[in-house]
Amino acid sequence: MANINKKLKNKHKRKFFLKTKNQKASEEEKREILDVIEKKWISLGPKAEKFEKEFSEYIGTGRGLLVSSATAGLHISLEALGIGYGDEVIVPSFTFVATVNSVLYTRATPVFADIESERYPIITWDTVKNKITRKTKAVIVVHYAGFVYKVDELQKELRNRGIYLIEDASHSIGSVYKGKKTGNFSDIAVFSFFSNKNISVGEGGFVYTHNPDLFEKLKLLRAHGLTVLSWERYKGKSKVDMILLGYNYKPTEITAALAFAQFNKLDRNNKKRKEIVLKYRRELRNLVNFPFTDEDVLNSANYIFPIYLKDEKERDDLKEFLKNKGIQTSIHYFPVHKFTYYKRIFGEVKLEKTEEVASKILSLPLYPSMKEWQVDYVIDCIKEFFNVG
Ligand SMILES: *Cc1c(COP(=O)(O)O)cnc(C)c1O
Repeated sequence: MANINKKLKNKHKRKFFLKTKNQKASEEEKREILDVIEKKWISLGPKAEKFEKEFSEYIGTGRGLLVSSATAGLHISLEALGIGYGDEVIVPSFTFVATVNSVLYTRATPVFADIESERYPIITWDTVKNKITRKTKAVIVVHYAGFVYKVDELQKELRNRGIYLIEDASHSIGSVYKGKKTGNFSDIAVFSFFSNKNISVGEGGFVYTHNPDLFEKLKLLRAHGLTVLSWERYKGKSKVDMILLGYNYKPTEITAALAFAQFNKLDRNNKKRKEIVLKYRRELRNLVNFPFTDEDVLNSANYIFPIYLKDEKERDDLKEFLKNKGIQTSIHYFPVHKFTYYKRIFGEVKLEKTEEVASKILSLPLYPSMKEWQVDYVIDCIKEFFNVG
């Protein structure tokens, strides 16, 4: 408790002493970065290639590429599938805006699907099927908070209809469903390595596919549509051609260095996340509700830890109460279809379950380096809020 009181004394200097996410660089990161600088090759090169091979093997039998962000990865995934003007792509609204923005980059139309339920705030075949039209070319599913739900059914039904499936696996690095890691249930999967994700490199992402043709397309789209990269030219390849309109979504070797250091800790860190989440759930179960089940937690990467309050008022009150205790919380997510920009283009869209869930959800602090006393402190403060301390 002395520790807490000391930290709270500094409250005026720093509003939150306990953040929702907290990522610090360690010795491993420093060593990997130094290695890149000493080798004097900083743009896309051998370290990225090595990471691509090892991370792909960790996910499954497909192949993948490091990209500058998951948003860039989603963009080129849609383009690699030939999606563009006049096409429709079914997406959740209960997600980070980038999932949906990426569809607009291609000039295709995003079509929002509702989540299945409060317990499973994820789009499923049941919520997607009545949104399908002749124009539907793809669906993007998000494994919310790291949880995977009925994605095999969605994959099967879409495949039967010739509709592509993209996994936005930004939350689910290392999540397992029916014995397979996420990334293996779709035509292309995209992982995010943004600062607050389970692999955290500042800005970065990964695209992954089992289809060799799509892999080649993604590789071209990542680097200007050019058939030979600088790194390959350096190694002796020479004849360059540009065969499609690509982008510059290449990562640097420094990104790859950070990705390696983080990847080496991934399973260990995911285990710690799981332990923290199970403790939270054990201690808070009589006070609040949770999405998913304890059983689901075991197979999840547990990117965030969301809880449900009774209603919006109780959620906002608790958020404010915890803020005054120095505890930061977040809302994952404000529904995408309710943002001004989306309302301007689509008008009023009604997604009953998404809106209900979003109004009472709150994410508590969760990161692998969280100390036991910090978890206890959050739990005690919530008990105090409910007067059961
Ligand atoms: C973080 C996130 C993204 C975007 O990732 P970036 O790497 O920051 O571009 C996309 N989708 C979801 C669901 C995310 O959480």
